[in-house]
Amino acid sequence: LKSCSNGYFQQHNTIHHGEEYHHHHVGPSAKELIGNALRKRVENIDHEDCEPGEEDTFFVADLGEVYRQHLRWKRNLPRVKPFYAVKCNPDPMLLELLSALGTGFDCASKAEIEQVLRMRVDPSRIIYAHPCKTNSYLRYVANQNVRQMTFDNADELRKIARFFPNAELFLRILTDDTSSLCRLSMKFGASLDSTDSLLALARELGLNVVGVSFHVGSGASDPIAFYKAVQDAHVVFQQAAVHGYSLKTLDVGGGFCADNTFEQMAGVLGAALDEYFPAHSGINLIAEPGRFYASAAFTLATNVIARRTIQDSELINNGTTTPDASYMLYVNDGVYGNFSSIMFDHQNPIAKVLRAGGQTLYNTPAAEGMDDESGVEYSIWGPTCDGIDRITLSIRFPVVLDVGDWLYFEDMGAYTKCSATTFNGFPNNHHTTYVCSEPGARALLGM
Ligand code: PLP
Repeated sequence: LKSCSNGYFQQHNTIHHGEEYHHHHVGPSAKELIGNALRKRVENIDHEDCEPGEEDTFFVADLGEVYRQHLRWKRNLPRVKPFYAVKCNPDPMLLELLSALGTGFDCASKAEIEQVLRMRVDPSRIIYAHPCKTNSYLRYVANQNVRQMTFDNADELRKIARFFPNAELFLRILTDDTSSLCRLSMKFGASLDSTDSLLALARELGLNVVGVSFHVGSGASDPIAFYKAVQDAHVVFQQAAVHGYSLKTLDVGGGFCADNTFEQMAGVLGAALDEYFPAHSGINLIAEPGRFYASAAFTLATNVIARRTIQDSELINNGTTTPDASYMLYVNDGVYGNFSSIMFDHQNPIAKVLRAGGQTLYNTPAAEGMDDESGVEYSIWGPTCDGIDRITLSIRFPVVLDVGDWLYFEDMGAYTKCSATTFNGFPNNHHTTYVCSEPGARALLGM
């Protein structure tokens, strides 16, 4: 399972197999594996007398999805080595698989760096991609020989000169992040009119600048942002040369979505890289994708703990009862928990029915919300006492849901569990069942 950064693409070419992967085409075996894991856990809970918390929310993670995303990355950006952004989801099995696949890791704190080093990942496979670092963490990484790090201002350069003068520095530049879900440029990034003086100061302090980095904002949607950022990075490479630096690496950051916009982003980015940093330039290319790898791999199941009927059922003309009441459903996870992505990541997770009235409905038409006005209307709320704790304002299902039933949410791997709190005493250390729909990934993990 060992791999080093230099041998990365040579070593892992064997997992290509010429497979074609289209996103949201999750094979029947993946759906089946996830469904079986969900089914097994929820069908084993006796809601009449289970232990407190046995019905807690839980994840099913398909590591095969992570593996497929890696193949997809390599097919679309073959020259760019990914350094997975640990912040997005530090799940230990996910990190193990990525380590076995030979990716690097983007860490932003001592704890993240520690977690990666504990997996025996070589320090050269870590970039401390935080432009504003804690003094004591800088001393820690100097001790651990984690050399690569970013900076974007003069104060940080002086701090680095004091605590880790041999660090390998990436100058993070400002980008146009207006098309992204989570904007970063109001907080980080050196504007192009400050880069020249920062390089001059780095030279004066005797520091080792080795590259340029940028981030177009997390969850970016405009590929032109990548093109422009690569162009700006090229300008900074030339500025650096004037200051006597021969930069070796460009870090194109994260921001890649896992949906089918990825191919378009990668197409524009790849073309920009070929134009400004062609293969013969010898410049290493790295990236810091987070959500691209993590989001689709995790499915979350939540239990309906309470229900409030908004309007009684009415008897209509032919004498049958129609469920035209609507309901507020209270589930045991919410925006203070794994749905923190609603607040912090501007997501809109879509509920589906896992189990209703003693029937498991995963992946059947009855599990899906409906677009028309038929069916029963629900709003879905989290378990805390706060009114802000709402998951879904309105959704319709063809079935009547009640206490004890289960919902599931797909694409819950990115910026969810990692930013969950324990507000109101609801736990944030939920169980994860791991499955793996790719034999290649199973082999790497010894599963
Ligand atoms: N790199 C840095 C410096 C970040 O701040 C982030 C996210 O905030 C990422 C990488 C990962 O971004 P994404 O998950 O959109 O790929």
